[in-house]
Amino acid sequence: ASGYTLMRDPRHNKGLAFTERERDAHYLRGLLPPIVLSQELQEKRIMHMLRQYKVPLQRYMAMMDLQERNERLFYKLLIDNVEELLPVVYTPTVGEACQKYGSIFRRPQGLYISLKEKGKILEVLKNWPERSVQVIVVTDGERILGLGDLGCQGMGIPVGKLSLYTALGGVRPSACLPITIDVGTNNEKLLNDEFYIGLRQRRATGQEYAELLHEFMSAVKQNYGEKVLIQFEDFANHNAFELLARYSSSHLVFNDDIQGTASVVLAGLLAALKLLGGTLADHRFLFLGAGEAGTGIAELIALEMSKQTGNPIEENRKKIWLVDSKGLIVDSRKHSLQHFKKPWAHEHEPVSKLVDAVKAIKPTVLIGTSGVGKQFTREVVEAMASINEKPLIMALSNPTSQAECTAEEAYTWSEGRAIFASGSPFDPFEYDGKVFVPGQANNAYIFPGFGLGVIMSGAIRVHDDMLLTASEALAAQVTEEHFKKGLIYPPFSDIRKISANIAAKVAAKAYELGLASHLPQPEDLVKYAESCMYSPVYRSYR
Ligand code: NAP
Ligand code: MN
Repeated sequence: ASGYTLMRDPRHNKGLAFTERERDAHYLRGLLPPIVLSQELQEKRIMHMLRQYKVPLQRYMAMMDLQERNERLFYKLLIDNVEELLPVVYTPTVGEACQKYGSIFRRPQGLYISLKEKGKILEVLKNWPERSVQVIVVTDGERILGLGDLGCQGMGIPVGKLSLYTALGGVRPSACLPITIDVGTNNEKLLNDEFYIGLRQRRATGQEYAELLHEFMSAVKQNYGEKVLIQFEDFANHNAFELLARYSSSHLVFNDDIQGTASVVLAGLLAALKLLGGTLADHRFLFLGAGEAGTGIAELIALEMSKQTGNPIEENRKKIWLVDSKGLIVDSRKHSLQHFKKPWAHEHEPVSKLVDAVKAIKPTVLIGTSGVGKQFTREVVEAMASINEKPLIMALSNPTSQAECTAEEAYTWSEGRAIFASGSPFDPFEYDGKVFVPGQANNAYIFPGFGLGVIMSGAIRVHDDMLLTASEALAAQVTEEHFKKGLIYPPFSDIRKISANIAAKVAAKAYELGLASHLPQPEDLVKYAESCMYSPVYRSYR
């Protein structure tokens, strides 16, 4: 191969870090300026450049360019500067990138499967250059973050999530495949945007939609076998629950919006119990938002209560209340509720406003999963603070603009008593001379390690007990020192270690449940997880 080709292959390119010997051996002489840089110096230089950009989207684009130019350097940056760069390659900036994807689009970074490919999906999969794919993240773009239907431009999400699978969970980049399924969009703005990259039609639904997805699911299994993990991402809830239910017994599927969110939030709750006191079953929960995130979290909380107390899950569900766009979910609404809300329709008179629901239910924990910003008003937070010595408030809606309240509001309105976590990152906030560090209930704590655990054990199905295990493993990483700052999640800087721990626990559970196919079981699963993890350090070429 010529040196020129080597330099243009992002998987092998090292830029100015090619050594003298490599330059001789691989026909690179003269194609590079004379200086040889270390990977560390390259990293320093690019971080310096990134910090000059004041507009987040510029940082995002610079990172995407780097990924397409020099993959190992991209991952080195992401791993070494995870707290700084996570908000760039993932929420909140990725949301803006998706909104403007048509204008900033340079090169396709994953597979596009549209209605035009119906009947040919297996052939499309074979066009992808990598054979040994282990994780697919797929979206149909209908509910991107809290931003709604972005159609084909949702591709930024699978691309971003998979870069986290690699950076945080150590899954090899070549084993990751981002896919966007384009069945149209109902977003008028995009339909009228001359730069829109997707099908210019309204969304296919019903049988047409189901058939395309079925062909996709069958083709994936046929092409990659049974052990490829398919992560559904940012589907609208009317499809998400159904897809998960339909394929969870025949495929290795995981929905991060439902299951991943549930696992990461449960971890925060388990950790918070150390600050709040009592057991999970001693608490009362109120959700604003009863969709994928809300009902997913609620169900996993109820499952964990059952695991801890042995009580039937129906009993535990009664401690959990949800509010949707029509108010508190109560039994009199049962006939008109979507099926995933029905288990939460408890006996109560109708309540339409959140603040009245807080006063009526008296929750100890308030969780926002509505996708609508500013819903935890002063009145709501004050009501929580008057009921509880330490109200636990989670404002999970992303991106930042959709957060139910800010960290500052939660701490100020509760007079410094709230324990607060959010979906998008907030800076530490000083109140009354004390610095509070808001926790980020970021799904990135769980899914990379969870995925690694599934892959390394060769699990063929995802089981709820694996999610509970992942939550417990994450909660166990929160130390006394973190609690002192009000943190209910460990810092992201330790994420590779955290992921290895989660992976080991998830794998152990898969073996215990008889779902693992990589036999014999490795003796030390944490060590094994670490040994499986991708390293971004350059290889030397002979
Ligand atoms: P979803 O399935 O569409 O659910 C949204 C829910 O919010 C629905 O039940 C909806 O009510 C309700 N809702 C909408 N507007 C409301 C209002 N004004 N008042 C009360 N309820 C309202 O969406 P999702 O997947 O659950 O995601 C919701 C949000 O959570 C998004 O912003 C997402 O970014 C965020 N999220 C965060 C994390 C995290 O922090 N780790 C993880 C996942 C999701 P109806 O059912 O009546 O329409
Ligand atoms: Mn998502």
